[in-house]
Amino acid sequence: MIFAPRPRYRQRVMQPAPETSRVATSRVACDGASEIPGGAALGHPRVYLEIDEKGYVDCGYCDRRFILTGGAADAEAAR
Ligand SMILES: [Zn+2]
Repeated sequence: MIFAPRPRYRQRVMQPAPETSRVATSRVACDGASEIPGGAALGHPRVYLEIDEKGYVDCGYCDRRFILTGGAADAEAAR
């Protein structure tokens, strides 16, 4: 397999939400590194986010998107 180099901005355009997590509750916490063992120093101050009726919320620090399982955004993702 060949990996062709691409301009970084193009990747951002094609991937508006670089990281997504599906969660079961509408209230989530993000510190940017919760999935990296011992990686807290790589993240950001922990913030608590509330998923609204749209079914998702984006972290203002790291752009991670939290999608509520079974919510409106989750149904869209399943198409
Ligand atoms: Zn975050």
